[in-house]
Amino acid sequence: MKPLLPLADLPAAAAPAPHCPECRAEGYVIEAAGDWTEARVCRCVPACERCGGLGQVNALVDGVPRSGRCACQRIPDRVARFNLARIPARFASATLSTFMTGAMTLGEPKKQVAAAEAMRWLGSWRPGEHGRGLVLHGLVGRGKTHLLIALLRELVFKHAVSVRFIEFSRLLATLREGYSEGRSDSPVLRELATVEVLAIDELGKGRLTDWELQVIDDVISRRYNSSAVTLGTTNFRPGAATGAAPPNAAMIDQNPQTLGDRVGDRVYSRLREMADFIEVGGGDCRELLRALGR
Ligand SMILES: [Zn+2]
Ligand SMILES: [Zn+2]
Repeated sequence: MKPLLPLADLPAAAAPAPHCPECRAEGYVIEAAGDWTEARVCRCVPACERCGGLGQVNALVDGVPRSGRCACQRIPDRVARFNLARIPARFASATLSTFMTGAMTLGEPKKQVAAAEAMRWLGSWRPGEHGRGLVLHGLVGRGKTHLLIALLRELVFKHAVSVRFIEFSRLLATLREGYSEGRSDSPVLRELATVEVLAIDELGKGRLTDWELQVIDDVISRRYNSSAVTLGTTNFRPGAATGAAPPNAAMIDQNPQTLGDRVGDRVYSRLREMADFIEVGGGDCRELLRALGR
């Protein structure tokens, strides 16, 4: 067996090339792959001489033999975390910088304000602390999901957070499957209740049955009780239930219903306690782009 060397005497751990045009020295690339957005380690990251690709290092630290994870694993660990988030392929290029650039190109100060508030929320993130969640609200097409996913990317790659993205309708379908099989503790339900950050897109969308409202209440209550961070987007304005009926299709931009009307007052008031609410205003991104001839 080779004698152990001091850590400082080992070759450097593999790192991205400092001027790589593909990953901009981040060491990972994010792109659409089939139905999902996937991350991969950039080709510029060489084989690791420190651990020989094993990911594990044995060395002397202050004269004491130690064994630990090699620094080269930082990027692949985060890539693996990101790929568990299950972000749809159409959001492969959703970043804070593409959101900001888009808002400026479209001449949309309200979106710039929303992005600045979202960045402030991100800046207050402290690893290991149970921070507050975030709900982005506003009319359809304002870029809420883009902004939400941009935040998830930052949480994974800057703070190594485990995140899960799910559309509200898919969440309901998943819950329905779990419960109909009599598995209220099925792995997928447990994951949604316990993942470090759960991001629910389009909160309150769809025709909600009493049973569906009950299971949503269950998931949100479990996250509330364990102080887990929940993020979301919604097309409904914040507010307790008013009893207003759902609008017809022609009224989509003047929906009389509140988020409380959609998910019930108990879930709504829990969300209010758990999360900051930020409005993503301005115009409809698709219409603005069309007007610009893009
Ligand atoms: Zn690279
Ligand atoms: Zn290594």
